[in-house]
Amino acid sequence: AVTVLDSATAPERLRDIHTLIFDCDGVLWRGSDIIRNAPEALRVFRQQGKRLLFVTNNSSKSRAEYASKFGSLGLEVSPEEIVSSSYCAAAYLSSIGFPASGKKVLLLGWSGVEQELQLAGIPFIGGRELEVPAMDNIDSMKQLKVDPSIGAVVVGWDPNFSYSRLVYASVCLRELPGCVLVATNTDCADHIGGGRMMPGTGGLVRCVETAAGATAVNVAKGGEWLLPYLCRTYNLDPSRTAIVGDRLDTDIHLGRQGGLFTCLPLTGVTTLERLRGLPVGELPDVVVPSVAQLAGLD
Ligand code: PLP
Ligand code: CA
Repeated sequence: AVTVLDSATAPERLRDIHTLIFDCDGVLWRGSDIIRNAPEALRVFRQQGKRLLFVTNNSSKSRAEYASKFGSLGLEVSPEEIVSSSYCAAAYLSSIGFPASGKKVLLLGWSGVEQELQLAGIPFIGGRELEVPAMDNIDSMKQLKVDPSIGAVVVGWDPNFSYSRLVYASVCLRELPGCVLVATNTDCADHIGGGRMMPGTGGLVRCVETAAGATAVNVAKGGEWLLPYLCRTYNLDPSRTAIVGDRLDTDIHLGRQGGLFTCLPLTGVTTLERLRGLPVGELPDVVVPSVAQLAGLD
């Protein structure tokens, strides 16, 4: 049986927790709609002296762009508390020697990753403006010349993803020595309200992996790189850290990887029905209707 805790019973479970890692979509907001009492809940946690971090797999925005989104929804958050997967991509590349290596990035992605690469001083081609000749016949594919200084292909949320971009990326990965494939996340699909799911970045990553015969490093929740990075950077004590997230394969997975306390609010993609189908050992430590109850609010 799955017990859903209420505002009278949930807060007690966080008594010894010092740092709270919040997932964003499905916990604090859904698309562009704020979850009821989320700003008040964050205020309660801050008053209790807890440290807050906000970790999102969405790569479409930079940390600075997220800081504006948080503000516009009434959530008081500073950019240093935000770890977006766009930022993770730049941090990962820095950890493997960019930009000192002199190599460039080919970016299939949006402004979030563009801005974070710029801030990290990592040169890139592509992003929103990537111009690739139309790859609609054998001759154009044979004649394609890729920039030999590309040392990594980064795949993020890219609404302009195309076959031509796929050809460019796969030629880089197959032909340039040492060129690595980096995924901002591998989420399959996200709720956008009205009962509709939109494709996540995972499908685009799979597409490049399949075409290039390569395996991507996932720098976000769901991958292996992020948790050790967070632990080093924020000096986390896993036994006093909790993650609050709506996804089993990313948020709860990250928590279980590091022995964090795991909390799942039912405001996102995971239903109570889905939880009831899980073996007891795979359940989150706490299930709550929403982040509000976790803070003792209704
Ligand atoms: N990537 C994209 C493009 C999204 O739109 C979303 C959620 O809306 C996510 C990833 C998942 O974000 P989060 O980790 O905050 O749930
Ligand atoms: Ca989420």
